[in-house]
Amino acid sequence: MYGGEREVHVTDVPKPSITGSGEALVKVTLGAICGSDLHIYHGNIPISPGKVLGHEFVGVVEDVGAEVKRFKPGDRVVSSFFTSCGLCALCRKGWFNQCVNKATFGFGEYYGDLGGGQSEYVVVPLADHSMEPIPSGISDEQAIFVGDILSTGYFGAERAEIKPGDAVAVIGAGPVGLMATMCAQLFGPARIFVVDMVDSRLEVAQELGGIPINAKEVHPVSTIQEQTGGLGADSSIECVGVEAAVDTAIRSVRGGGTISMVGVPSVVTGEFPYLDIWLKSLTFRAGWCNVQAYMRPLLDLIAAGRIRPDVIISHRMKLDQAAEAYRMFDAREATKIVLTP
Ligand SMILES: [Zn+2]
Ligand SMILES: [Zn+2]
Repeated sequence: MYGGEREVHVTDVPKPSITGSGEALVKVTLGAICGSDLHIYHGNIPISPGKVLGHEFVGVVEDVGAEVKRFKPGDRVVSSFFTSCGLCALCRKGWFNQCVNKATFGFGEYYGDLGGGQSEYVVVPLADHSMEPIPSGISDEQAIFVGDILSTGYFGAERAEIKPGDAVAVIGAGPVGLMATMCAQLFGPARIFVVDMVDSRLEVAQELGGIPINAKEVHPVSTIQEQTGGLGADSSIECVGVEAAVDTAIRSVRGGGTISMVGVPSVVTGEFPYLDIWLKSLTFRAGWCNVQAYMRPLLDLIAAGRIRPDVIISHRMKLDQAAEAYRMFDAREATKIVLTP
């Protein structure tokens, strides 16, 4: 649970139970720490100490409310990191992440005050629309990321409008950047440049078919331009959220190209190169993932062996070690940490 800035505690809390007819109680079998959990860890999210953290989890249904139709006790499930109703005007338009009834797991009062998945049990409201069953043969480690970072990587790649033969620049090789690299491959690019400053992460990017560019050693924009005949990449996927990374994402694409930003912004406002974007006729897309639309197809891609999201897991730890896990992830000593209760 959140214990205040840079403090995570492991403690016993009462077992949650379902109170609404559309809810499911899930016994968590695997949780993960996400980059956006670090925004909480750094004290940048309005959340009270004592709240259970975690929004990436899989588990087994233990109890369901009377109106839950798709799930029964014993079902293995993966949940989206947020809930959606499937019935409101924006859900009916397919924008589940804009659902008027949405709430986010483990993110405190301001984001709907749901429980967290870095725990033994979590209650999932609007369960029929917020969870997917895990097909048999898919492990927890393979399934967990469809609820957030794998869907986000796919969303970023899809909105980059990658065409066969394209050159793509992925900015950031953290968990989301690695997922974006993996998903970009599904669209048939000739080359994917991956920019980061951490060698261990760039090594994973290379294993996924990316061309690593270490921004500590070379200037990423000029390196991408040199390797594309001076033009720049056809599209870029921004997976960090800091201004310098957004700037690199914009500058590394050619005229007429597309920038797809999925990194969680670390500032509310900032410099934006309106004139450059206009002069180069660029398309700039930004947003957080519409997860519920992607969970099913991504589980099918995993089942078919087309993608292997679990390759990014660098550390497997027990929930009891959560405080140390947060410290390691924050220090970039780990690429991705999963926690078993
Ligand atoms: Zn996340
Ligand atoms: Zn809705």
